[in-house]
Amino acid sequence: MLACVVHGAGDVRVEDIARRSPAAGEVSVSVAYGGICGSDLHYAHRGGVGDFLVEQPLVLGHEVVGTVEELGQGTTGPAVGTPVAVHPATPCGVCPECLDGRQNVCRDTRYLGSAARMPHVQGGFAQQIVVPADQIRVLPTGLSLELAVLAEPLSVALHAVSRAGDVRGRRVLVTGAGPIGCLTVAALAHAGADAIFVSDLVPEALAIAAAVGATSTVLATDTEALPTDVDIAIEASGAPPALATCISSVKRGGRVVQLGLLPPGSVPLLGNLLVTREIELVGAFRFGTEIDEALRLLADGLPVEPVLTQTFPLSRSVEAIALAGDRVRASKVVLDLR
Ligand SMILES: [Zn+2]
Ligand SMILES: [Zn+2]
Repeated sequence: MLACVVHGAGDVRVEDIARRSPAAGEVSVSVAYGGICGSDLHYAHRGGVGDFLVEQPLVLGHEVVGTVEELGQGTTGPAVGTPVAVHPATPCGVCPECLDGRQNVCRDTRYLGSAARMPHVQGGFAQQIVVPADQIRVLPTGLSLELAVLAEPLSVALHAVSRAGDVRGRRVLVTGAGPIGCLTVAALAHAGADAIFVSDLVPEALAIAAAVGATSTVLATDTEALPTDVDIAIEASGAPPALATCISSVKRGGRVVQLGLLPPGSVPLLGNLLVTREIELVGAFRFGTEIDEALRLLADGLPVEPVLTQTFPLSRSVEAIALAGDRVRASKVVLDLR
């Protein structure tokens, strides 16, 4: 079967890899769509994400939907042909975080399409993927596979909103209008935020944020126009200057959620504002059970279609990955693996 494989910085190939049969407790999924994520772009361009480097061929992709192809022996699961989404995480189940119900920060997790471990955990940009049965989610009635491909990034957004606390009636700033920032906007609007400000350097990205529920958009360079005294700020760009914007825009006693992955190593921090204004700074990483809510919201018509901008066949993965890095022309770019 064919897969989109990264071999190192700037070296992405569509190539033949071996299929695998599901073992007991596993399900094989015939992959239909895979969303290209920022981490896939980092692997493709830099050959790594954060401190994790590609040291052996890595199939990219962790935002995956498809149909059940085969159940491992004795495995209970949805019938062959059922449309499903795949939860990309396999937490260890025995570490203190897992036992505490915080599987998203499990110290020993396996995540699809990740070089964090050796051997790497192969991803879902392949015509078939085999995962543990409990990572399969049946799509709610009426939800298409085309839209369900947003379930994973929407789950990330929902988790960030839960880390922000109660957002009902609140004024919220989101820095970064990429796919995750825009899905965070949609999640905030659904959760009842009163005003949602979004900042970004790219007007085309801000237009998508406005289409999914931002009440006000501002160019990040236009510092005069940035809101002041917001209740909550969610940093969804991973750019250190945006973290500074969040800390200086939030009200005294407000909360900042760092969702974007910052550059490796240390970044500058407006630490004295944090102290003298008693600002709470919290991280948000991946997600846990939010994928069930994400699928429900997508089925219920959460207006997020503007985030989906282009779809390419697997054979044109290299082109798709190049376009996904162009923030003027693209937001979420999807591979069609059928
Ligand atoms: Zn992702
Ligand atoms: Zn664990």
